[in-house]
Amino acid sequence: MTTPMTPMPEIPTPVIALVGRPNVGKSTLFNRLTRTRDALVADFPGLTRDRKYGQANVAGFDFIVIDTGGIDGTEEGVEEKMAEQSLLAIEEADIVLFLVDARAGLTPADIGIAQYLRQRQNKTTVVVANKTDGIDADSHCAEFYQLGLGEIAQIAASQGRGVTQLIEEVLAPFAAQFNATETAVQNNQDSEQDEWDNDFDFSDENDTALLDEALEEESDQPENKNIKIAIVGRPNVGKSTLTNRILGEDRVVVYDLPGTTRDSIYIPMERDGQHYTIIDTAGVRKRGKVHLTVEKFSVIKTLQAIQDANVVLLTIDAREGISDQDLSLLGFILNTGRSLVIVVNKWDGLDQAVKDRVKFELDRRLDFIDFARVHFISALHGSGVGNLFESVQEAYACATQKMTTSLLTRILQMATDEHQPPLAQGRRIKLKYAHPGGYNPPIIVVHGNQMDKLPDSYKRYLSNYYRRSLKIIGSPIRIQFQEGN
Ligand code: GDP
Ligand code: GDP
Repeated sequence: MTTPMTPMPEIPTPVIALVGRPNVGKSTLFNRLTRTRDALVADFPGLTRDRKYGQANVAGFDFIVIDTGGIDGTEEGVEEKMAEQSLLAIEEADIVLFLVDARAGLTPADIGIAQYLRQRQNKTTVVVANKTDGIDADSHCAEFYQLGLGEIAQIAASQGRGVTQLIEEVLAPFAAQFNATETAVQNNQDSEQDEWDNDFDFSDENDTALLDEALEEESDQPENKNIKIAIVGRPNVGKSTLTNRILGEDRVVVYDLPGTTRDSIYIPMERDGQHYTIIDTAGVRKRGKVHLTVEKFSVIKTLQAIQDANVVLLTIDAREGISDQDLSLLGFILNTGRSLVIVVNKWDGLDQAVKDRVKFELDRRLDFIDFARVHFISALHGSGVGNLFESVQEAYACATQKMTTSLLTRILQMATDEHQPPLAQGRRIKLKYAHPGGYNPPIIVVHGNQMDKLPDSYKRYLSNYYRRSLKIIGSPIRIQFQEGN
């Protein structure tokens, strides 16, 4: 039934690591790049607590950014200065942004870090002079050429100056490998909307049909029906076992791919006529060569896999319950907007009381996720594994279902008829029409007046209304509100 094919390496989402001595502005830059989104603070066994991981989209590029922290410029010896995990972050990153403080000038700690980075010839390393606001940047930056790492980028992270340009420059070489991102498409659609006639009447089928036509060419609805599945979870929850089980235990793909350890393996497979790619973060094991180590777990690999997937199988260990780490991963998945199926593994051999307790705990801790299917399986014995594919297909279908302006506008009209938006300063908030803004996750763009006054409770009402009307299961949906036509 399941046919694994030759595994292939693919190009994952780029990773940018921020390094530098304390106080140069790494956190400030991290926050600016990731905006208000929550950082994933790694608290996995064997990893230091203070490393922060975040997702960013700047200038149309999606990437993962790591604030390495952990480098203490006051200790002896560069190798010792850098905490083990910071070193690992540098190894796993595609690009290292080495921050220095333009106001403080060159310090011995900067020189030590530079020595270390110069040995990493294969890395794109850029010296970034921060805090260039309000000073003569060129003269302050000149001394950083002594670091021997080439050109100095000048930024002011606290104001955002130079940041977009920096990201464009370092990620440009990756650009060819990526298609236009949601943001780029989004921007096009926005400008399309700006030109839209003020007399637009949302109840007029002709108008909505015209708008659909106008948007048709910009549509980023995925045509590729290959579903990419990421199997993620904490160490030892059973990811490898599940991957092997899915690929068919008699046909375990055994391979040693050259290349770096950070790369996930993308395994194409076919099941009941549907093409999938399993993004394997855990590493399919060779038989008889099973080493249970924590080190094989990589946060970066996990985050890249989530970013690159259509549907994420978040695997939880029934015997361990739901941990804060599971919730951290969940938060990251929700941020990316990927479709989600929750897999509670190791469901074999548990007595009823334990099962009841696990289910109770799931309800309690995951009550904010009302859209994802939950499966109780045993990867070891195979029970429940086949059914996962139904939920994966459902989630993908929901996340990519065709939405039209006329349909979305009709639903908006029904929602506002049933429950009017409130008054704001004596004027009724008016929602006019809605159009699709993207897929996987579905994005719905609602246009109207006084959008900034729309209360969160009403936004939630609309979101639920759309979810119910469009019957979206397994995928988050996003509603964006835009002022005017
Ligand atoms: P980290 O220890 O490297 O993460 O540094 P932080 O991001 O915590 O920043 C250290 C200090 O520098 C804070 O007080 C920031 O407000 C300040 N800072 C960061 N970026 C800038 C900047 O671009 N200009 C100025 N003037 N101050 C900055
Ligand atoms: P990973 O680190 O997430 O890839 O986890 P592994 O697949 O290496 O599994 C970790 C341990 O859990 C191994 O000893 C597996 O045999 C065991 N395991 C995996 N799935 C199951 C399951 O469904 N039931 C039970 N009882 N043990 C399992």
